Amino acid sequence: MKKVLVIEDDNIIRTSLIKLLNNEDFDVIDAENGQIGLQLAKERLPDLIICDVMMPELDGYQVLKELRREPLTATIPFIFLTSKATKADIRKGMNLGADDYLTKPFTKTELLQAIATQIRKRASIQEHYITAIGQAQKTLNFLINYDSLTNLPNLSFLREQLRQVLDLSRQAHQQVPLLCIGLDGFSRINSNMGASFGDLLLKAVAERLKDCVCDNDIIARLNGDRFAMVLTTIDRHQDVAKFANLLLDIIRQPFAIEGYQIFVNASIGIALSLPNSNNINSLIKQADAAMYAAKNQGGNNYQFYNYEMKVLDYDPLVLEADLRSAVEQEELQVYYHPQVDLQNGKIVGAEALLRWHHPQAGSISPATFIPLAESIGLIVPIGEWVLRTACLQTKVWHQLGFDNLQIAVNLSGYQFNQPNLCEKIRQIISEVDFDPRLLELELTESIIVQNPKMTKVIFNELKELGIQISIDDFGTGYSSLTYLQQLPFDILKIDQSFVRNISQDEKNATITKSVIQMAHSLNLKVVCEGVETEEELAFVCEYKSDIMQGYLFSKPLTATEFGKLLTGGKDLPKCPVK
Ligand code: C2E
Ligand code: MG
Ligand code: MG
Repeated sequence: MKKVLVIEDDNIIRTSLIKLLNNEDFDVIDAENGQIGLQLAKERLPDLIICDVMMPELDGYQVLKELRREPLTATIPFIFLTSKATKADIRKGMNLGADDYLTKPFTKTELLQAIATQIRKRASIQEHYITAIGQAQKTLNFLINYDSLTNLPNLSFLREQLRQVLDLSRQAHQQVPLLCIGLDGFSRINSNMGASFGDLLLKAVAERLKDCVCDNDIIARLNGDRFAMVLTTIDRHQDVAKFANLLLDIIRQPFAIEGYQIFVNASIGIALSLPNSNNINSLIKQADAAMYAAKNQGGNNYQFYNYEMKVLDYDPLVLEADLRSAVEQEELQVYYHPQVDLQNGKIVGAEALLRWHHPQAGSISPATFIPLAESIGLIVPIGEWVLRTACLQTKVWHQLGFDNLQIAVNLSGYQFNQPNLCEKIRQIISEVDFDPRLLELELTESIIVQNPKMTKVIFNELKELGIQISIDDFGTGYSSLTYLQQLPFDILKIDQSFVRNISQDEKNATITKSVIQMAHSLNLKVVCEGVETEEELAFVCEYKSDIMQGYLFSKPLTATEFGKLLTGGKDLPKCPVK
């Protein structure tokens, strides 16, 4: 029953209005003056107010003005009753927020129609309002619970869903496998191809992952390139392992993005819930620790969590503070990855690769901490330290008789953009008294394309110093031949994702072959990175790569280990074809 408030000082009119409205099934309240009317409106919040204009003390206009000021009464439909209304009166009332005017005398039909119109209008506004609130709530829920890039649940929603799954699994005495999936080298793709390209890749990965799960399984994006999966239909160790292998295989298939074929591998960490545990955070951290263990194994594999893996709080803020102190505490170390001449099987050089031995977490991959060092401005001092350390160490090997040993040092884009880069390098090589012809600086294409003119100036300065320049990770970025022709590069390093696929994928094999031929025609030396198997070695030899770098010969080594390898004289069996 709709509640109508009648405010009218004329007793006869008020009584007849009450009678009429009661007969029409309205719940009527009435007031004999403006003051009481205002009071009742605020207390009883009627669905509609009918109010006389001319009343002693508080007139209709004043009542309306007061009502419109209060949030609770501001939208109550308001109909004025007046004996004679000029256009100016009507405008005044409408300006104050009146919804209609009835001029006395009015018929019953006129009154009921005016009331019905206002009630209908209000109902539709309210409906609209409810829909809008519902929509806003939905949007808010989405923002709180989902990742807006991939539309997958986010970490906080994962926690909530995982809690429910763990409750059910406890009742059924089952374990729940949680998989943490990270893409290998994603930050490199992001910096080589740009963040929006990286976003497209993440979306495509999310789509593929969605296709792999069953209805009740959960899949979420944790942050960056980390995804999580909760499996609800399998819990046996061997079944989960089989599934992880399948996932690795599915992600390994090339992604077609903006006309590029992108190859990406994943590292998967797996944690199984304990039968009576509902510690969600520790389960997530365990899967995360296992994923980093998989990355430290070289990526492209899965690891089950075990108690020897250190669960690190990978809160970026904690990691940032840790990295700052790592520099002071000397937790950073340079490793040396042998480079072998494919003509004679001998070590001709090494790539200096940074390692961080975290006191709690063990060895952290540069793929994890270099982007962090870049973002907090630590990469410049760290990069200089790597260059100085690698030159000093290589100088020692030169003095031991390995006097032609080359050393390759990676340069980050941030270092490259330092205004005094060449001056700094000149200073370091002169302090160490290092032969610049034996120093190679590795740059990726993304660094070059940012400012090709400036790059040319810097390259010329480096060449004047006698330093060699190599293009790193060729095949993962723009793979632009123009830059290769225009800039004085000496070496081209084919990325390991290409090498990894040459033995399986004929198209890749053809591309690699023509990249090597093209590099040779531009007088560039070719290094193939990531050679892990005899088969891959046979391929890179057949395609006439000059140098190989890969786990088949050796993993990156400490200075002491590398020294032993040099003096011990380990050779790669000669190229099968050459
Ligand atoms: P990168 O310059 O392309 O270095 C080659 C990476 O491939 C190294 O990983 C190396 O260990 C790995 N690799 C080489 N052969 C194989 C193989 O056969 N199998 C597998 N699975 N991996 C192989 P690492 O040491 O993890 O370095 C990753 C990236 O971190 C480097 O990629 C480089 O971009 C960056 N980085 C490393 N040290 C430094 C540094 O001192 N400064 C800068 N700016 N970046 C660095
Ligand atoms: Mg490199
Ligand atoms: Mg590389």
